[in-house]
Amino acid sequence: MDYDVVIIGSGPGGYVCAIRCAQLGLKTAIIEKYNNLGGTCLNVGCIPSKALLDSSEHYHNATHNFEKHGIDTSAVKINMKQMIARKNDVVNQTSDGVKYLMDKNKVDVHYGLGSFVDKNTVKVTDEKGKESTITAKNVVIATGSKPNYFPGMEPDKDRIITSTEMLNLEKVAKNLIVIGGGVIGLELGSVHARLGANVNVVEFADSILPTMDSAVSKELTKVLKKEGFKFNFNHRVQNVENTGKGVVVTALNKKGEEVKFEGDYCLVAVGRKPYTEGLGLDNAGVKMGERGMVDVDDHLKTNVDGIYAIGDVVRGAMLAHKAEEEGVFVAELIAGQKPHLNYNLIPGVVYTWPEAAAVGKTEEELKAEGVKYKVGSFPLKALGRARASMDILGMVKILADAETDEVLGVHMVSARAADMIMEAVTAMEYRATAEDMARICHPHPTYTEATKEAALAATEDRALHI
Ligand code: FAD
Ligand code: NAD
Repeated sequence: MDYDVVIIGSGPGGYVCAIRCAQLGLKTAIIEKYNNLGGTCLNVGCIPSKALLDSSEHYHNATHNFEKHGIDTSAVKINMKQMIARKNDVVNQTSDGVKYLMDKNKVDVHYGLGSFVDKNTVKVTDEKGKESTITAKNVVIATGSKPNYFPGMEPDKDRIITSTEMLNLEKVAKNLIVIGGGVIGLELGSVHARLGANVNVVEFADSILPTMDSAVSKELTKVLKKEGFKFNFNHRVQNVENTGKGVVVTALNKKGEEVKFEGDYCLVAVGRKPYTEGLGLDNAGVKMGERGMVDVDDHLKTNVDGIYAIGDVVRGAMLAHKAEEEGVFVAELIAGQKPHLNYNLIPGVVYTWPEAAAVGKTEEELKAEGVKYKVGSFPLKALGRARASMDILGMVKILADAETDEVLGVHMVSARAADMIMEAVTAMEYRATAEDMARICHPHPTYTEATKEAALAATEDRALHI
């Protein structure tokens, strides 16, 4: 065999798996079909979307908030070409960083489409069509996902677009129709709303972010309406038409009536689907699961000995940090260790402003499971830190077991919630009670005081500042 481990796909799942394999002394190679490493996350996902969210937030602050701070910025203008160019620089630097990490860890990189010949042999076809084969004792499938869509809303990549095209749009949309009030719709919708677009969300469910705690979706709905979002819930999209000058989206509302939405662009953001095209899974005998996913057991093993799968291509949350943890898990398993991964404590973040973040069970889940629980909430507006920065929208909500006081879920909408949620993840990993969290000294003035106050409220309804 040429290698101990070959990984197909260089996203956060694949490249982190490669590094951990190399650290454990395994001879490792990675195959990537594009010339840039880093997968969806680095190239068309997490990193470019956050780069544009930061740029648009600066513009929004300059045009809406600087004056209140006593800073006159009367001639602020958008230069969309430069905004996209800066985003591309960030992407390229990050992708080069992954190549550096592969070299540093002596992981061989093979550029080209990886395709199984048999369970231990993978053919690599480069962009010029040149083929080579490599053999390995173990193969890890880390081929990720692609945007999903349903009949009638097929993206034409011109005006009917997915997140991939939206991240390169060098114009600000005037009237953006977003199909799907999930994470992508709200994040990329926010970018254009802050730059001045009217954003109209057409959502099949009765709220945004339907899988998050309803307190988060309600609070964020209020926040985004203030930013200029319009929401059309319980709407089933039938058809999207590119008229040449714009788009017309036809949907059925709850009563079954036809409703039309007009805009200049339509962002299709109705989820993502696992990507296995061209992988030749049949040649290795790998079994597929539901909805195009690769079927794996609790140890991320497929039905074929020595073949594993991780990240967006398998069940579970489609998140970069979940893919990374699975990459480490599989590397350690192959090296003979006994790794552990707590799927209940994978945090989720929505990078709107304020941000939304959560870990553990939602109130709806606890109700459905028949668990007796207590709730403690605290509004950001009661914090001095929030008033100082004028980030007064949001709340922190803590759910704790009614008998044992163990924290079961933490949900928040707050400035810097993406970073604040880690306190809750750490506490819950150590099975902290609400009282444990409430008794920890939190620095003043910080947004984290809202977490302490919510924990106090959950403990004995004894929040101090409200
Ligand atoms: P991917 O990152 O999809 O990587 C798979 C790689 O495999 C790709 O490079 C692909 O080219 C390659 N590949 C596929 N087939 C083959 C083949 N046959 N041969 C060779 N190579 C192949 N998640 C977060 O946690 N936080 C965020 O803020 C966030 N923001 C996002 C924003 C957007 C707009 C999008 C679209 C996604 C975002 N995500 C975010 C989700 C995140 O990007 C994914 O969960 C993550 O990238 C999954 O990692 P992965 O390694 O499983 O697959
Ligand atoms: P999503 O699952 O978050 O949201 C899709 C939304 O579309 C849901 O609200 C759903 O009810 C709605 N929907 C589904 N079918 C519909 C239809 N026919 N008409 C109208 N609405 C419909 O998916 P997404 O926003 O496309 O994101 C894809 C994945 O990427 C997610 O799994 C997410 O985890 C990941 N992602 C994560 C981040 C982050 O962590 N900050 C950011 C972006 C993307």
